[in-house]
Amino acid sequence: MTNKITGVNGPITGWLDGHTYLIGLMAYPIRHSMSPTMHNNAFAKLGLNYTYLCFEVGNDKLKGAVDAIRTLDMRGSNVSMPNKKEVIQYLDKLSPAAKMCDAVNTIVNDHGVLTGYTTDGIGFVQSLKDEGFDIKGKIMTLTGAGGAATPIAVQSALDGAKEIRMFNIRDKNWPQAEKTVKTIRENTDCKVSLTELSDQEAFKQSIGESDIYCDATSIGMKPFEDKTLVSDPSWFHQDMVVFDTVYSPRTTKLMRVAQEAGVKHVYDGIGMMIDQGAASFKLWTGKEMPTDYIREIIF
Ligand code: NAD
Repeated sequence: MTNKITGVNGPITGWLDGHTYLIGLMAYPIRHSMSPTMHNNAFAKLGLNYTYLCFEVGNDKLKGAVDAIRTLDMRGSNVSMPNKKEVIQYLDKLSPAAKMCDAVNTIVNDHGVLTGYTTDGIGFVQSLKDEGFDIKGKIMTLTGAGGAATPIAVQSALDGAKEIRMFNIRDKNWPQAEKTVKTIRENTDCKVSLTELSDQEAFKQSIGESDIYCDATSIGMKPFEDKTLVSDPSWFHQDMVVFDTVYSPRTTKLMRVAQEAGVKHVYDGIGMMIDQGAASFKLWTGKEMPTDYIREIIF
């Protein structure tokens, strides 16, 4: 039997019957998302009686959509832009990381009690662990201060990073960067700083002293594929990790510069994307997502 939506061959136990648990994704626009394909294939592979659907919901319909999670007894939902901050007012509880990020990407419904989580940072830390790198005790230089960089910084600090040196341009994200620094100082032992990216000497020195450089800006993805914040390979050292959160294109200009420098551990954002999904999957189902299988069939 072939599952008509997921395309997975083989028997699927109890798929879409009177007992099926519903998971949503509430964002606008969202039809392009890979999340339904990822989660529905994982449910099918494990024979779990869940299904995952996209709902095009912006801020205007968000309250009704969150009420529907309770009314319809949905198991939960993912939340993406423009709803990640807006949704907080409609939830009952927040995880420590979601509170620190002031943003939610996953809702879990436990018998009418809605808890908000953020799993992007968990995905980042886990994807590094998958490669044998533990953020604990490490120094990280991080560019970016938006939707990806904030949970990366917060979760890394919660998971024991020794120091995080954030660099960003002074744009609309700067106040968020300041908030992130403040909350990390208040809630963890991690040393954290924020410097303007225009201070290129400080940026270069920081990368040279770091165990990991992570770029969580929009540089490297469309329409900035031919751009990188580090174009001189001599800024890197071979034993460090260079991590680009971008997952399309698969090899960014930053990654090519790092490879040219002989950096041994250069990663794109696919592992982070799968592992953030796996963290949400576990919150809803209590099961480990078959991530190797998902990587093989989708990415
Ligand atoms: P965002 O718009 O919230 O933040 C973008 C960041 O880039 C901001 O800090 C901004 O100041 C910075 N920036 C923009 N233009 C810049 C420039 N010219 N020079 C330097 N910095 C600049 O976006 P986001 O949601 O945080 O996404 C950032 C990146 O992370 C994107 O490439 C996205 O694809 C990626 N991402 C990956 C995952 C994953 O799971 N791998 C998840 C979310 C986002």
